[in-house]
Amino acid sequence: MALLVQKYGGTSVGSIERIEAVADRVLKHKQQGDDIVVVVSAMSGETNRLIGLAKSIQATPDVREMDVLLSTGEQVTIALLSMALMKRGLKAKSYTGSQVRITTDNSHGKARIQDIDTDAMRSDLDDGTVLVVAGFQGADEFGNITTLGRGGSDTTGVALAAALKADECQIYTDVDGVYTTDPRVVDSARRLEKITFEEMLEMASLGSKVLQIRSVEFAGKYQVPLRVLSSFKDGDGTLITTDGENTMEQPAVSGIAFNRDEAKLTLKGVPDVPGVASKILGPVSEANVEVDMIVQNVSMDGTTDFTFTVHRNDYDKALNVLQGVAKDLNAKEVLSDDKIAKVSIVGVGMRSHAGVATSMFKALAEESINIQLISTSEIKVSVIIDEKYMELAVRSLHSAFKLNEPNTGVSEA
Ligand code: ADP
Ligand code: ASP
Ligand code: MG
Repeated sequence: MALLVQKYGGTSVGSIERIEAVADRVLKHKQQGDDIVVVVSAMSGETNRLIGLAKSIQATPDVREMDVLLSTGEQVTIALLSMALMKRGLKAKSYTGSQVRITTDNSHGKARIQDIDTDAMRSDLDDGTVLVVAGFQGADEFGNITTLGRGGSDTTGVALAAALKADECQIYTDVDGVYTTDPRVVDSARRLEKITFEEMLEMASLGSKVLQIRSVEFAGKYQVPLRVLSSFKDGDGTLITTDGENTMEQPAVSGIAFNRDEAKLTLKGVPDVPGVASKILGPVSEANVEVDMIVQNVSMDGTTDFTFTVHRNDYDKALNVLQGVAKDLNAKEVLSDDKIAKVSIVGVGMRSHAGVATSMFKALAEESINIQLISTSEIKVSVIIDEKYMELAVRSLHSAFKLNEPNTGVSEA
C-alpha cells in the first residue's frame, strides 16, 4: 500500500469522458489499496479562455482579480472529478487551494508556496477518502487567492507529495513520459526510462514544458520521487531521480530543448568603459524585465556592441527602455529581433566529454544554420538561431547525437 499524489493535466481532464477515465484510473489504484491525493488542472483551453475574457475588459488585468478568475478553472474540475469518483462508490472530497491550506506569498500570478497544513488531509486519508485538490492555486496569509504561474499544477502536486511524504508524485499528461525532445516535433524522439533532477531542471528551464520548472526544483530539493506518465495508456513513464539512464557511462547528451519565447536586443556602438553593462541592464531590471543570455563583443575603436535576450512578452518593454538608454549612452543604434529561437543540448555527461559543443556547431553548419549567440554551462549548450530553422535544428541535432537509439554509453556526434 502506497501514498500516491497523482496530478492530471488539462488534456487529461479536457472532457467529461476524460474525467471519467481519470476516475477509473484512481479507482484501480484504490482497489490495489493505495491512498490517493489527486491534483487537477483546469480543462484544456480553459485558463487561456479566462485570460482572454479578462483582457477583453482590461488590457493589463488587475493581478488580484486575475487570480480570482483563473482559480475558477481548477474549481470546476475538482468538483466534477469528485462526482465521478463518488459514482464509482469511492469516498471523495474536493478542496480548493485555500481549503487545503496551501499558504503562499502574495505575488499574484507567480506566488510561491510557504506552507501546507497536512492535518486535515491526513484525517481524510485515514478515513479512506480520495482528496481531489485544485492545482495551481493557494491563498496568502490574508486569504487572498493566489496562483502559482502557468503550468503550476505540477508544483501543487510535488508540494503536496513533499508535505505528505508521499511514496511517489505521478504527473499524468498527454505523452507517456519525458522524451529526448518534444515528440510532437521529432517523430523519432525516444522516451527516457529515467532522467536526473539536474537534467530535467535544465530541460524545463530551456523550454521543455512537460514539467513546470518550479515543480522540478521542488522535487529535487525535497527528494520527491517524481514520475511522468500518460493518462491515456498504461506504462512506466519516466522517473526523475538522482541518477540518470545509464549510471556507468552517462552519454554526453540526454536531450534537446527549444524555446520560441525569447527576443534579442542589441545596443550598437556603446563606449567600452567600465560600468556600461550595469548602465544598460540596470534600467532593464528596474523595469522588471528578466534577462537571459548576455553577450558583449570585443572592443573596436573604443566602442562595443552589447546583446541580450528577454522573454518575448517583455520585448516591447525592453525595447522602450533600451531606446532611452541608447540616448543616455550616446550609442549608435538599437537593433532588435523577436523572430529568434533558442535550441539547447542538455546532459550531465557533457562535463566529462570535450568537443560536444563543437559537434553541435558542426551539425548546425551542415544544415547551413547560422548561430547568432552561444551560451554554455557544465551541462548544456544553447544557441540562438533564426526562428524559421528551429525544427530543422532540433531534428538534425537529435540525429547527430543519435538520441533515437537506446543509450549504449558515450554518444558522439
Ligand atoms: P499538461 O496539460 O498535462 O500539464 P503539458 O502540455 O504542460 O501537459 O505538457 C505535456 C507536453 O509537453 C507534451 O504534449 C509535449 O508536446 C511537451 N513536451 C515538450 N518537451 C517534451 C519532452 N522532452 N518530452 C515529453 N514531452 C515534451
Ligand atoms: N491551468 C493552469 C495553466 O493552464 C495550470 C496548469 O494547468 O498547470 O497554466
Ligand atoms: Mg503542464
